[in-house]
Amino acid sequence: VVSLNDVAFSYGDVPVVDGVSLDIEPGEFLGLVGPNGSGKSTLLRLLLGLERPDRGEAHLFGEPAHEFGDGERIAYVAQDVTDAARDMPITVREVVRMGRYPRNLFGRFSDADRAAVDGALDRVDIADLADRRVGALSGGQRQRVFVARALAAESDLLALDEPTVALDAESRDSFYDLLADLNDRGLTIVLVEHDIGVVTARASRIACLNRELYFHGDSEDFAESDALAAAYGANQRVLD
Ligand code: ATP
Ligand code: MG
Repeated sequence: VVSLNDVAFSYGDVPVVDGVSLDIEPGEFLGLVGPNGSGKSTLLRLLLGLERPDRGEAHLFGEPAHEFGDGERIAYVAQDVTDAARDMPITVREVVRMGRYPRNLFGRFSDADRAAVDGALDRVDIADLADRRVGALSGGQRQRVFVARALAAESDLLALDEPTVALDAESRDSFYDLLADLNDRGLTIVLVEHDIGVVTARASRIACLNRELYFHGDSEDFAESDALAAAYGANQRVLD
């Protein structure tokens, strides 16, 4: 699905991602962890083709990521999307319907489109909120709206950047259980999350980043490795 080979990226002179190589296989649930400012959001944008690497290669479904044109195959829930949605004057159903537009920008909304929207609303358990304004929902409900939009699009890859910062522990757990369930049904997921415990419990694979990749492997092996301390220690040195 995704393949990064020795990718480097800087904002100006400051290297933010350096020498990162990793693959995401179909059906994988990859948790991307690391301290604040370690380059997680940037790496996610690189692997989705939203930034272009200064060095190395990023491929998405076999194409150079920045040239990838099949927008409906990937769904991206950005770090600040739920804040941005606070003022959206449109309803939950309208947001979820947007997930279908890459398929029929100029076409009619078909019965299949309608069924996909209803199915997605059901799956994330917000069917009863369909006609509410997005801006009038809680943070957790809004997160579900954006996942429903991704499901309606029938994307092959769901990418989320710290989607639960605004949620209480209970809503966060149920949201991540939902992601784990979607992954069990075959959806490939990459999730940026700073809470290590929450992500290692659900993700099959972990990538631990602090500019460079400190760990990439199965989540069971991550707990045993000293990558976490090394990655956070490196950050400490930067701060000192
Ligand atoms: P957080 O956990 O806080 O979300 P992160 O791991 O997602 O952090 P990034 O957002 O990828 O980190 O940022 C990595 C580094 O790049 C940081 O030092 C940040 O200050 C810097 N940076 C991010 N975006 C920009 C930008 N648009 N211009 C300049 N520097 C940036
Ligand atoms: Mg970030």
